[in-house]
Amino acid sequence: MKVIKFNSAYLSGKEKEYQDEVFSNKHFAGNGKFTKKCQSLIENIVGGRVLLTTSCTAALELAAMSLNLSSTDEVIVPSYTFAATASAFYRTGAKIIFAEIDPNTLMIDINDVERKINKNTRAIVPVHYAGLPCEVVKISELCKSMDIDLIEDAAQGFGTMLEGGHLGSFGRFGTISFHETKNIHCGLGGAIYINETEDFDRVENIWERGTNRAKMFRGLVDKYSWVEPGSSFYPTELQSAFLLAQLESLDKNLDQRSSLTEEYKKRLKNLRKYGVILQDSALFTRWNHHAIACIFPTYEITEHVRKTLLDRGIHAYIGYVPLHSSPMGKKMGWKPGDLPITEDVSNRILRLPMHCEMTVDDVVRVTDELEEILG
Ligand SMILES: *Cc1c(COP(=O)(O)O)cnc(C)c1O
Repeated sequence: MKVIKFNSAYLSGKEKEYQDEVFSNKHFAGNGKFTKKCQSLIENIVGGRVLLTTSCTAALELAAMSLNLSSTDEVIVPSYTFAATASAFYRTGAKIIFAEIDPNTLMIDINDVERKINKNTRAIVPVHYAGLPCEVVKISELCKSMDIDLIEDAAQGFGTMLEGGHLGSFGRFGTISFHETKNIHCGLGGAIYINETEDFDRVENIWERGTNRAKMFRGLVDKYSWVEPGSSFYPTELQSAFLLAQLESLDKNLDQRSSLTEEYKKRLKNLRKYGVILQDSALFTRWNHHAIACIFPTYEITEHVRKTLLDRGIHAYIGYVPLHSSPMGKKMGWKPGDLPITEDVSNRILRLPMHCEMTVDDVVRVTDELEEILG
């Protein structure tokens, strides 16, 4: 029986060639030719300024450090997300306020956000789940009208566009992941989009271990010194060389994934009679086809389907365990029952296999098995 894995790290074919060049150049440490090439390539695609980071977690931390948050400041994040979305802001001392998601789009619920905004709210960090856009334009307008910073966790969203721009380009900062589980990657990696010109110098100093060393290389200062609390945020040239090969292959990656999601969408319609729906979104003009998230009628059915698929060699994954009900959430004073919609729907999500080594026939097998199990 052929196993259909949930994910398989993407390879473009040119990674080793570019990494060999790093060996010939003998510049390994970072912020060299390949890092700069990746950054300007992304800037050309997305607009704004871009710095590579060692992960999306690091990019979120860099964004959080740039905001100078204090212990009275509140940051609103969805509870349905990866830990780093909250952790990055929590560790700068801010108070984390968890918001509900919409049970159909699985994105932060803007009405709940509005209810939770008060005079201490400093930032909102929505997540673009599955590489689909959250209601980022509406949230951006809300933030502007209330003088609140918007930071987009676009970890899964590289390549997705909507009217008005790419994911990550709407907020003050946007953060991207190049982890091997994302569409394109460099093992571990990420990027921060700096969408307001006046932020760039400071963010670059924090990124460059709190120094103005990058300015020295550009001839703006003659020696560098410590100017901010910072950290070591950028990847080595080996990672950047790997990433450049992947970035150049973005369109091919999206084309391959798109034929799979088309088939999924077509065939998953047959499961509506069993109360199974596909995560809903219509906001994009181009989707990166990152993930296929299905919502089942009950937790019991979801678990039965997941385990039976596994027995049949098909790896489907559950959604996130809500952060407010995690051990850290509880330590912060949150308790089960605080976010009933998130608690209910997060239990009923399965993400289906999705990667470039899959074929359309694999999608047919996954959906046929699903239909058989549910029937
Ligand atoms: C993957 C992911 C992250 C973390 O990305 P890393 O690059 O692994 O640090 C953060 N937020 C979301 C929503 C993610 O999917």
